[in-house]
Amino acid sequence: MKTQNLDQWIEERIKPEEITKYMTGENDFIPQEEIFRQLIVNKEPDKSRLRDILAKSLEIKSLEPDETAALIHVQDPELLEEMKAAAFKVKKKVYDNRIVTFAPLYLGNECVNNCLYCGFRKDNALMKRRILSMEEIKKEIEVLAGKIGHKRLIVVYGEHPDMDVDYMVASIKAIYDVKMPARHGIGNIRRVNVNAPPLSVEELKRLHATGIGTYQVFQETYHRPTYEKLHPKGTIKGDYRWRLYVMHRALEAGIDDVGIGALFGLYDWRYEVMSLVYHGWELEKKFGIGPHTVSFPRLEPAYNTPYTTHSRYRVSDEEFKKIILVIRLALPYTGMIITARESAPMRREAISLGITQTDASTQIGVGSYAGRADGGQEGDKQQFFLGDTRSLEEVIGEFTEMGYITSFCTAGYRCGRTGKCIMDLLRSGTEGKFCKLNAVLTFREWVDDFTQNGIKESAEKVIQREIAEIKEQMPRIYPKFIAAYERIKNGERDLYF
Ligand code: SF4
Repeated sequence: MKTQNLDQWIEERIKPEEITKYMTGENDFIPQEEIFRQLIVNKEPDKSRLRDILAKSLEIKSLEPDETAALIHVQDPELLEEMKAAAFKVKKKVYDNRIVTFAPLYLGNECVNNCLYCGFRKDNALMKRRILSMEEIKKEIEVLAGKIGHKRLIVVYGEHPDMDVDYMVASIKAIYDVKMPARHGIGNIRRVNVNAPPLSVEELKRLHATGIGTYQVFQETYHRPTYEKLHPKGTIKGDYRWRLYVMHRALEAGIDDVGIGALFGLYDWRYEVMSLVYHGWELEKKFGIGPHTVSFPRLEPAYNTPYTTHSRYRVSDEEFKKIILVIRLALPYTGMIITARESAPMRREAISLGITQTDASTQIGVGSYAGRADGGQEGDKQQFFLGDTRSLEEVIGEFTEMGYITSFCTAGYRCGRTGKCIMDLLRSGTEGKFCKLNAVLTFREWVDDFTQNGIKESAEKVIQREIAEIKEQMPRIYPKFIAAYERIKNGERDLYF
């Protein structure tokens, strides 16, 4: 272990002044009583008000808390259908018919915290612990970038002195350094998104300097009494506000693509959805930048972790779909992530409700990409069990059949289209244009470099349809685009707008 004095390391992690400086007065930005009040007074919204709310969302305007509460309570089947249609249109307007794919990469399963619902909690003596060395990380990337063809990762770190910011910086560099030969070019990771414990401003500045994409931290539950029950006192994670204000610190440190989320199933989903919207609002108000992505993982069974199957707040499939709909409509500009926690049928349905990003070929055992060629799950090395272990090619094949194009675009952060800039472009529908061009270029690359079997024909159809739309919708940029497309076809790589 890096430090001999673990207690001291834990004690020094939290910097109270990096919480209070963002607060006005005693209260934080999650107004618990007000959320309950909003949920009660908006219980029976009338149809015309609901239709006005949907119209507002279709103008890509964030909804107010009372409007969000009204949508949460919709039960009428006719109105639910209208919500679905509106969510689909909002997504089409902002993100067109693209799905961005990525792979999660767990670099270790050591953790000093003791969250009741997590297989990695320190008291789970049956978990086999491991932190990957730089050599082992390279081996994982050789599979992810060299064999599967991923370009984006979400790299997951535990809260532990052996996975501190020095380790994070070194591992991100190791990931970006790997270049693998592919059929016509090279396979490499071009965007590392990070899911890490809350860091200080100084640490976040160091992380930012490595060239990360999105920094992601989930509050798990915004309901304070539940938070305190599930995250024991005396652990770092036991400090609700250290976690709650981490995105303020990230934005101050210059990381302007931030990802928020809640773990659904710990407390009442209605309260968590309202809180996510309040969180988005707070960031917009203070920094002019809402969350780049919102995640809404559902509690899944985990090895030797009885809480995961006993929680009284577990979310049904119908409720889960409602969560997606409401967030899509309440924060219309935001990216929305669904992961392989969910089953294939649920993921398929969720895409049409507003999802913009998903993972594939997923393995979450530490070292599993290189170590388990069969793609099997290893309960005693992973945080929870997956619902969908299909390969990237299978998932992409399904998307193409559904008429979606898979995008491997990583241009945004490399061209400075991040933070407020990207928010404005998304709201105006302009970012969609860059993305459409880059989706075709990167999908062409992936098809030429990594398809093994089966889907080439359906992929070609999608590419040709997209090219025809670009020609029709963007005649001025089309000549430049098609020139880049031809260069990609002839073996050049990593061209983008
Ligand atoms: S949820 Fe995160 S912080 Fe909590 S025990 Fe698991 S890995 Fe550690």
